[in-house]
Amino acid sequence: MKKDIPSLYGSLVFNDKVMRNKLPKDVYKALRKTIENGTHLELDVANAVAVAMKEWAVEQGATHYTHWFQPMTGFTAEKHDSFITPSGDGEVIMDFSGKELVKGEPDASSFPSGGLRATFEARGYTAWDPTSPAFIKDGTLYIPTAFCSYGGEALDKKTPLLRSMEALSREAVKILHTLGNTDVTSVSTTIGPEQEYFLVDKDLYRQRRDLQFCGRTLIGAPAPRGQELEDHYFGSLKPRVAAYMHDLDEELWKLGIPAKTKHNEVAPAQHELAPIFSTANVAVDYNQLTMEVMKNTADRHNMVCLLHEKPFEGINGSGKHNNWSLTTNQGDNLLEPGKTPAQNIQFLVFLMAVIKAVDEYADMMRVSAASAGNDHRLGGNEAPPAIVSIFLGDELTAVLKSIEEDTYFGKQQRVALETGAHVLPHFFKDTTDRNRTSPFAFTGNKFEFRMLGSSASVSTPNIVLNTAVAEALAQFYEELKGTAPEDMEHAVHELIKRAIKKHKKVIFNGNGYTEEWVEEAKKRGLYNLVSTPDCLPAFIEEKNIRLFTEHKIFTREEIFSRYEILLENYVKTVEIEAKTLKEMLTKDFLPALSDYAAQEADKAMAVKNFIPEASTAEAAALVGKLTSAYESISSGVKALDKEIQTVSGFASMQKAADYCRSTLLVSMDKLRQTADAVEAKIPDENLPYPTYDALLFSI
Ligand code: ADP
Ligand code: MG
Repeated sequence: MKKDIPSLYGSLVFNDKVMRNKLPKDVYKALRKTIENGTHLELDVANAVAVAMKEWAVEQGATHYTHWFQPMTGFTAEKHDSFITPSGDGEVIMDFSGKELVKGEPDASSFPSGGLRATFEARGYTAWDPTSPAFIKDGTLYIPTAFCSYGGEALDKKTPLLRSMEALSREAVKILHTLGNTDVTSVSTTIGPEQEYFLVDKDLYRQRRDLQFCGRTLIGAPAPRGQELEDHYFGSLKPRVAAYMHDLDEELWKLGIPAKTKHNEVAPAQHELAPIFSTANVAVDYNQLTMEVMKNTADRHNMVCLLHEKPFEGINGSGKHNNWSLTTNQGDNLLEPGKTPAQNIQFLVFLMAVIKAVDEYADMMRVSAASAGNDHRLGGNEAPPAIVSIFLGDELTAVLKSIEEDTYFGKQQRVALETGAHVLPHFFKDTTDRNRTSPFAFTGNKFEFRMLGSSASVSTPNIVLNTAVAEALAQFYEELKGTAPEDMEHAVHELIKRAIKKHKKVIFNGNGYTEEWVEEAKKRGLYNLVSTPDCLPAFIEEKNIRLFTEHKIFTREEIFSRYEILLENYVKTVEIEAKTLKEMLTKDFLPALSDYAAQEADKAMAVKNFIPEASTAEAAALVGKLTSAYESISSGVKALDKEIQTVSGFASMQKAADYCRSTLLVSMDKLRQTADAVEAKIPDENLPYPTYDALLFSI
């Protein structure tokens, strides 16, 4: 049956069209003003919106509402309240007030706060974010909200993102006005996150403790065939996958999420979904929702969607490419090289601001992508390295060089202005060179930050990026303010000259996967923060605290609390993995291993009884190998168990995290190597769980 996609699209969203239809004109106008300019919403307006929202939601079959928020777990949280209210005569009516819309008080004491709430007030509250649309899911009206403590400290991932968007808008407008572009009144951050994921069969998934508890395999010999043939990437979709993707698109479209592109990825069983970009805040909400819908839809198809960064050893892991740009309220993309010299001067200023921001806060960029899961990916031969650098492409690099060295760009283009600005329109198309190894690449009219892990909220990297760029623009503003219009081009030229000298070390157009780059980056003085415990201390360094507090993104307390939460999350994740590995080896693998050894020994004995001169040398060698692996794994598990006990004894979370990385993960890896080597000798039917062959090629 043919479906009418445009009318399906957004059918579960309280979007602008519904608002216009349902709200009295003055209420609609007041709400739009709040959405566009962040002006305060009066309670009578909120009441009117609440009534309309409830009416619409009930028409769509909703019985409940929830304040939907993003605590620092990285997941979303919700508590559902029904609309029913006693009407006094033993009956109920469906009711929802402005107060209930605007503010909620979930009992939130169990969410991580890194000690924040203890020092202030035990409860938290949720506050409606009217800039992100409400929607209906499974009979409940979802209201996107920010989550704060009573003292106003942010306890979530949305509040600081909104703050960073405001800071960036403020600084961008200031500099645009200085450059003579006085029509712009606000600038918004746009994000298009490309989401990678794996699909595995649910029945197989259920047989593996590691996938169930950790989202990744902790042991498993490689399949004879991995991604060598490179036949999966962009390959034709298998029917079961195609059916899933079809359903997924429709579910997302109903929620107003602009899912656009779908394809197979490099690894077997790996896929990608990319939406059309939206305003940062909305894009973050959409991405959270997308991850949830992906999992739920997979469940209906008897599959499991794995969002872990490295579900399988030996093949590619999953990331999330964060495409980022800036758009003015007039719809102009500030990272698009323009058609006029004035536009190009503007482009160069913003480009330079991003380069400066990423160079000065590369450590924070790395922090923003840090997690136990992503550590398995960064620096592998697939994902960008842990070193943050920028890919600009040769021509744009040459333009900046020509400015730095006061030479004209290009041999033919003697007419170029001293900013090199005139020549930009002629080359920019070519700069979208497909460098896939750079963690931060300019792709024609946007930057693509590729370090992020597939399971992460896209909020944090954009908080960092927005704030660092806001700071760079603020500094540029100080350098340019008061310049007469006729001197502006020269002033910008000088500014870029100074800035590029200082920050060109972060630009690298080569292959980021090589050892030479690691060496070269070291020479240039770039950070190479390999693991999560290595990089997290950067969060509480004075220069970074200064950045976030000065732009009012985080208070000092909020920074320390987030640092603690990130560490704790890392430690808990590794602990759970270690415990799961221990259990899987003890309860599943070792019994299977000894059974198989005994079975092979029995078989050999039987043959020997039957034919006394038959050789048992091979059987003896195999059983010997199985037995020695058994012993080695048993004693390894005992040692791992001791190490697990040690974790809780450290005085600081940083020390515990360091220990997890230097000891626990190393022991786990050693155990894995022994287990994988011997697993390869055991027939599938003797193994207590499905192998990589089955998991990766089951669908
Ligand atoms: P690629 O070649 O990397 O797949 P695409 O042009 O297909 O690049 O875009 C990838 C993602 O970038 C999509 O999600 C897209 O919506 C997003 N994107 C495009 N333009 C912008 C922009 N101006 N700001 C933010 N994201 C953008
Ligand atoms: Mg891309």
